[in-house]
Amino acid sequence: MSEALSRGSVIGILGGGQLGRMLSVAASRLGYRCHIYEPGQAPAGDVAHVVTFAGYDDAAALGSFAEAVDVITYEFENVPAESLDLLESLRPIRPNRRALAVSQDRLTEKEFLAGLGLRTAPFANVESVDELPAAIERIGVPSILKTRRLGYDGKGQIRFTDATQRDWTGAPSVLEGFVDFFAEISVIVARAADGAVAAFDPGLNVHEGGILRTTTVPCGLPQSLLTDAVLMAAKIAGALDYVGVMGVELFVTRDGLVVNEIAPRVHNSGHWTQAGCVVDQFEQHIRAVVGLPLGDGQRYADVVMENLIGDDMDRLPALLAERDVQLHLYGKTEIRPGRKMGHVNRVRR
Ligand code: AMP
Repeated sequence: MSEALSRGSVIGILGGGQLGRMLSVAASRLGYRCHIYEPGQAPAGDVAHVVTFAGYDDAAALGSFAEAVDVITYEFENVPAESLDLLESLRPIRPNRRALAVSQDRLTEKEFLAGLGLRTAPFANVESVDELPAAIERIGVPSILKTRRLGYDGKGQIRFTDATQRDWTGAPSVLEGFVDFFAEISVIVARAADGAVAAFDPGLNVHEGGILRTTTVPCGLPQSLLTDAVLMAAKIAGALDYVGVMGVELFVTRDGLVVNEIAPRVHNSGHWTQAGCVVDQFEQHIRAVVGLPLGDGQRYADVVMENLIGDDMDRLPALLAERDVQLHLYGKTEIRPGRKMGHVNRVRR
């Protein structure tokens, strides 16, 4: 796929959540259509051209989906490897399989980052609870045990404060030394098929209960540090021969930056770009995936993005009455604690 896909082509998106929904809107603005593949509920289905509801292990459905699209991308990175093999035999997958493999497993991810010379939290592989004492001995406390796969929003994590603690996640894990950070930032970086790279301004992230609460730009940290953060993200994207948008989460410590994790997709901490840039992260991703040149992601406004989680939806009347607020709702009918229902971008002028 050396030339850009012609308008009217179909982009297949694995995963039908809010990220797929916002990708579909961006794609349709550029004249493309989206076909969503989702096993569960699909907020993206409201705005996409076609939706396939089927499991990630349904070979027949995956095959038909791939044949109906021109390129495949994803908003959900935990698709089984065999399913990806099948899809990849039929259509290009962007970002590529290596980016997925690296980010699907926290151990592989940490080893990859360390191999690039980037700092991560100290870590130890813990295959079973029997290996825990040796890992605690090496890493010490405080530390965090995280499942290697399928963890998100702080799920599958146990904090260790006592070296005699023997709690177990129930699956192969990594024990991470606790990083004494004073801020969390993320870089949303885009890389095109020709290797061109564009990064959005790093945002300051505040989490509550392991879930992102707010992202603020500008993040108020020294420019030299932010340049380092962007260079690190660009290095990661280049090393993976990445095509698309990637989120890189970093801890800011007194002695520099530590990479927490990478997400091979558009990222919640990049939602502010919808109100702060001419070309937001969703359009940037679609541009990269279809082979168009990257757009202008320079920030022209100060923005605070706030996630609307669970009962935050009760504040809707007040939010609707606020000035300088851009509201995004994901069309989810059922409100549950911890469920991301939407977000607002507050523009500071
Ligand atoms: P994660 O799912 O790895 O992004 O972790 C969720 C949140 O837990 C992070 O955004 C941090 O606030 C915190 N956290 C994760 N790992 C560490 C660590 N090694 N040291 C300190 N805090 C951490």
